Amino acid sequence: MCDALDASVLDGAAALASLDDVALGERIVALDVLARRVAAAQAAAVRAFDRRGAADAFGCASTAAWLRSHAGASEREARSLVALSRSLDRWPAFAAAFAEGAVSAAHLRIASAATRILSDETVAAGDAFLTATARALDSGRFAAVVRHWVARVAPSEFERDTERRYDARWLSISETFAGMRSIQGMLDPESGALIESAVASLLAANPVDDARTRDQQRADALTDLVQVAVARGPSSLSDAVRPEVVVHAATVAGDVAPPPSVGDQALTPAAFDRLSCDAQWRRLLLDAAAVPVELGRATRTVPAGLRKFVALRDGGCRYPGCARGQSFCEAHHVVHWRHGGRTDADNLVLLCRYHHHVVHERAHALTLLPDGVVEVAKPDGHILTGRPRGPTRERLEV
Ligand SMILES: [Zn+2]
Ligand SMILES: [Zn+2]
Repeated sequence: MCDALDASVLDGAAALASLDDVALGERIVALDVLARRVAAAQAAAVRAFDRRGAADAFGCASTAAWLRSHAGASEREARSLVALSRSLDRWPAFAAAFAEGAVSAAHLRIASAATRILSDETVAAGDAFLTATARALDSGRFAAVVRHWVARVAPSEFERDTERRYDARWLSISETFAGMRSIQGMLDPESGALIESAVASLLAANPVDDARTRDQQRADALTDLVQVAVARGPSSLSDAVRPEVVVHAATVAGDVAPPPSVGDQALTPAAFDRLSCDAQWRRLLLDAAAVPVELGRATRTVPAGLRKFVALRDGGCRYPGCARGQSFCEAHHVVHWRHGGRTDADNLVLLCRYHHHVVHERAHALTLLPDGVVEVAKPDGHILTGRPRGPTRERLEV
């Protein structure tokens, strides 16, 4: 921490040549600290300006509008700066660390965004811990810690927020000039990680002297994936090696210690239950310093033969009214194995990805009656029933 705002590092660009490598590195770090302190001072000034309602005196409707007309900020920059300045009130310890240049505006934005769903009391309780964490970590690793912290201290808010993000998924494919297609979208973390890892697995196989750009390789990889799926037909997908989402979960005395995660995204308990219904497991042994020392053999929750039997019996998603074929389905434990449910045909049904999600994450209670009828009680009290599809010739020939 600097004792005074040391602006001398801004001078003498011409003198840089006289600095040795160490001194030049120190100069870069000093400039970074200075930039953070300037950003913190600016945010504090904007907060004071905002609190006074000073924009009104300039004929501006809001502080953001004033920043746009008087400080050359774009609409987005202005909004972002006002939001940052307002978050200072909620995070006193964080604000102090920001003012001394120990954490960046990016750290504070991450903390504010990830905790907007939390009460003021919960945020106040986490201020000191998250500030100490932000001091030690870059903003990327800090974001992962914040998400895990939120999942732990406010599980129901975290669950609601996770569902809101799931609802925000979309994809659009539209034709633009000369038949080019524009693909845009936003995916929930799990689907996004699945596609990302599938595309990345094809990139790694490419030779280094590939003349294509990385962007072009990604576009080709996505097309390759779809082409393989279409060429083999959907029924091949169930037996194909699926790209996998790796769930990291620590176990303590046989129980999964929360929160498990996909990449650095913390999973809700419901999402973990869903993923573990039909998963491939490997035991990863860590030593006391959390360094991996041994990777066990892969075992399946549902053995391949049993899964095939259930696929033949059910033919596709058993959620009443759904027509998704078996290739797009996962095996669901009606009574989860964590609660003593057996992994046998009487306790397994196929569900498509979406309906597997609503059963676990949206509390659609599914039961399998002795005559094979599936009954679903929706949260609004509606009961849906679905009879077994019955074997078809096509299915028996699979
Ligand atoms: Zn399930
Ligand atoms: Zn379905």
